[in-house]
Amino acid sequence: MNSISANLNIMIKASEKASKILIRDFGEIEKLQVSKNCIVDTTDSTITFDDKGWCDYCINYHNHIVSNWDTGEQGECELLII
Ligand SMILES: [Zn+2]
Repeated sequence: MNSISANLNIMIKASEKASKILIRDFGEIEKLQVSKNCIVDTTDSTITFDDKGWCDYCINYHNHIVSNWDTGEQGECELLII
């Protein structure tokens, strides 16, 4: 004869199920890699990192966008036209 009540059995099963999910989630967090320069992480499955730990979004921004981004008077005039 089982001495554990039906309600207690349900609670035990629910906690066992929740713990499996938590263990899986914490395992994924341990493997998570975050860009050294921003908050992007490996939850983006296409992300890559350079040897400094910068993500490809940061590398693209600094190598291609900043160098072509005029924040001076000319850039302001171009923005106002848009
Ligand atoms: Zn980044």
